[in-house]
Amino acid sequence: MKKPIRLSIQFLVLSLLAFAVIGTFVGSTLSSVLVSKNNLEKNYLMENQYYAQKLASTTDSLFDNMIKSLTMESGEEEYSTADSKEIYEEVKQTLESTDFFNSVYFVDQTGHIRASAPDRGLEGTVANRIGAKEALKKKVPLISEPYVAVTGKLILLVSVPVFDDSGSYKGFIGGTIHLHEENSLTRVLGQHPEHENDSYVYVVDSKGNVIYHPDSEWINANVKENEVVKQVMEGKTGSQEVMTIQGVSMLAGYAASTSNWGIVSQAPKKSVIEPTIEMAKQVSFIAIPFMIFVFVLTLAMLKKIVNPIRMLAIYAKQMTLDPSSPTPRIPDWYFELKELKRAILKNVNFYEKKLTYAEGESNLDPLTGYYNRRSLEKKISHLGMYSIVLFDIDRFKTVNDQFGHQVGDEVLTYMSELAKKETRESDLCFRIGGEEFLIVLPETDLALAQTIAERIRKTTEAKISPTGKPITISMGIGNSPTTASDFSELFKVTDQALYKAKEEGRNRVIIANRLNNNKN
Ligand code: GH3
Ligand code: MG
Ligand code: MG
Repeated sequence: MKKPIRLSIQFLVLSLLAFAVIGTFVGSTLSSVLVSKNNLEKNYLMENQYYAQKLASTTDSLFDNMIKSLTMESGEEEYSTADSKEIYEEVKQTLESTDFFNSVYFVDQTGHIRASAPDRGLEGTVANRIGAKEALKKKVPLISEPYVAVTGKLILLVSVPVFDDSGSYKGFIGGTIHLHEENSLTRVLGQHPEHENDSYVYVVDSKGNVIYHPDSEWINANVKENEVVKQVMEGKTGSQEVMTIQGVSMLAGYAASTSNWGIVSQAPKKSVIEPTIEMAKQVSFIAIPFMIFVFVLTLAMLKKIVNPIRMLAIYAKQMTLDPSSPTPRIPDWYFELKELKRAILKNVNFYEKKLTYAEGESNLDPLTGYYNRRSLEKKISHLGMYSIVLFDIDRFKTVNDQFGHQVGDEVLTYMSELAKKETRESDLCFRIGGEEFLIVLPETDLALAQTIAERIRKTTEAKISPTGKPITISMGIGNSPTTASDFSELFKVTDQALYKAKEEGRNRVIIANRLNNNKN
């Protein structure tokens, strides 16, 4: 068997309140977290783009400066006239005066290396790699693609042509950047003091080859398939979310440099999560005490609203179990409560009255309005000294027989009214049988009771009854405690006196015998 669930308004209201508070909290935290995550992502994208742009111009000016310094050097006349030793001194000085290059060397117009610093004994060797070939061929300032040099190192070559005073080509001065070693690029790009999130930077050349990456394993890898690299190779600047080859989502900013390189600054998308969690914590830190405050305040207010209803319900329930339970003080400070309370109290009052009335009714004889036998003992119980007068209409049967039951009833009413008139307000009148009445006279001794009884008897025999003639009554009287102290004993002997009055010829008053003295 299922037990019926009993939900109280307190429980319902409390649940609702908890739901509302927690719901609001979760909702507001979630929305602020989402908003902050979105903003952070946008910020990361923007920051990365600005940073890439900044590095692009830094890189441009770095290479500008490299070319400038080599161009200045190319004006030295030693390159067209002097011997290798002097040229070595020149390239060595060029290498040491800046920290642009890992090595500097001079190649004459025949393609032979004349001198290189630091000295690796390459003098006289033919510079036959792609960078040198291109420089010899084009005879203009150049920055090469990455290639493996005669030294076996992956390098970039920055070269400037050398012409003598008459303008004839003498060769080129080349500065190398060893991509796998510490170089001027790593020094410029490798540290980002203002850029403290998880961002990192890499640089690709115009063909999509990585020429700088903090993880040196990536250097010289071709990444032209990367969405961002595609953009940057088209010379575009911007930012977007991009997936790496390893499947990591990145927030990337990119910028193209004038030398057709692309700079990409990017951070893993998941690195915004930590600041977001931090932000959620801060929101909670501020919101939770406030929520608790609101919860407690609302609870107190709800209690004020709900408690009176609860009290009313408990009272209503109690009334059904015990109608005599006292009315509690229930505050009624709002409309619905006031009306509900009024209705309940009004109802209770109504039924209380009805009940009292019904109780009273059941104690009364409907024909005469006298008390009936049922209420006798209760009415008599709290009396001190009192007398009783018991009387019965004489030969009543013949009234019924001669005039009918209707007239018989009228005689009964007539008799009761007559007796009532002859008694006092404090006297109690009972109809205890068909045409038998009892009058209880509180604080009345036997003598006075006899006087009253005689008065009733005489008035009755003198007055015309509804039959058209007077009727007579026979009466017995007794007193408590003189006749008998116990009511049932007193009644018994008074009834005997009444019987005696009938026997002795009716229409008379007989005093009951004292219980302990049975002789007349
Ligand atoms: P007695 O002098 O010996 O008292 O003679 P009685 O005729 O009065 O005799 P008894 O007391 O035996 O008769 C009572 C009669 O009262 C019997 C019954 O028909 C009649 N009676 C009892 N109650 C009512 C009533 O409510 N209305 C009417 N009309 N008659 C009643
Ligand atoms: Mg009788
Ligand atoms: Mg009678």
